[in-house]
Amino acid sequence: MQEPFKAILITRDENKVQSVETREIGLGDLMDGDVVVEVEATTVNYKDGLAITGKAPVVRQWPMVPGIDCAGTVVQSDHDGYKEGDQVILNGWGVGETHTGAYARYVRLNGDWLISRPSGMSALDAMAVGTAGYTSMLCVMALERYGIMPDSGPVVVTGANGGVGTVAISILSKLGYEIIASTGRPDEADFLRSLGATEIIDRSELSEPGRPLGKERWAGGIDSVGSNTLANVLSMTRYGGAVAACGLAQGMDLPATVMPFILRGVALLGVDSVMAPKQRREEAWRRLTQDLDIGKLHALSKTIGFDDIIDTATALIDGKIRGRVVVDMKK
Ligand code: NDP
Repeated sequence: MQEPFKAILITRDENKVQSVETREIGLGDLMDGDVVVEVEATTVNYKDGLAITGKAPVVRQWPMVPGIDCAGTVVQSDHDGYKEGDQVILNGWGVGETHTGAYARYVRLNGDWLISRPSGMSALDAMAVGTAGYTSMLCVMALERYGIMPDSGPVVVTGANGGVGTVAISILSKLGYEIIASTGRPDEADFLRSLGATEIIDRSELSEPGRPLGKERWAGGIDSVGSNTLANVLSMTRYGGAVAACGLAQGMDLPATVMPFILRGVALLGVDSVMAPKQRREEAWRRLTQDLDIGKLHALSKTIGFDDIIDTATALIDGKIRGRVVVDMKK
């Protein structure tokens, strides 16, 4: 292992003002764990954007190396499940929030948090998926467990041009669902259709306060937006339908009524990726190798280098990034 190495560091001064910079650090600056991974690829998720911009209290300890996801190679291990040379993926578990994270050449982790990278999936492709894409898969699996299948009726995907949205559309399309994509970027309609969306609606149709019950428009939903959007998605879900909710891009409030639940038997399915049990993660990653078209994954992602992470994080929070961003640590 080569020390020192480059890392992004978030610090806070005595007035709790946050600074972000690229610095040289050593293994001694990393938090405890029984496995050291050399990071080959990482990504910029919404949560990484919040951490770097300081727009929400994602980081809980300072100094912190942000970065909630990585794909890489084990370079040192005292964990029974992993040995030097193993190809692994890390998503969540508080890494980049309370535990030093992936925006560094090396990351030291608890081996129980890792999963093996599926064979046939490169480190870069795993990070094109990243937490956002793996959460999309968890949302699809939640709808399936509830019985929402392609023949149940259309599924609405909100935040359609975002990381969760673009991967969700791609997966649903491969599975044969009819997809209604809600977006604030109607100029990207052709792109969303190329991923598999069958209908595009303007997000303003869903983002304002609405009625307790609306016209029944879809059998299911994948919502990464929250707030009025989620309330309206619920109010327009058909009898017996279900909505998987995973995000808060519009807001963390939910100004809804119980009417969709008690008059239409609609279900609200909460989806969390951070603390999801290992078995469900492994199932999601296995499904991603099977149910996500690799050509579409490449079409919805762009590759940047380590030095672009900070600017990209800001752009993502400003809603200027389409799809997913992969960070190639060798670039
Ligand atoms: P992105 O920034 O990539 O996408 C979010 C999308 O939401 C935007 O592209 C935009 O889509 C839409 N959007 C943004 N602002 C608003 C607004 N004010 N009103 C309505 N729509 C808006 O983020 P991700 O897709 O990576 O993540 C989306 C959400 O999911 C985040 O809140 C994130 O924290 C959450 N998340 C939760 C996880 C979990 O474990 N529960 C895991 C991963 C993500 P468009 O331009 O098409 O309108």
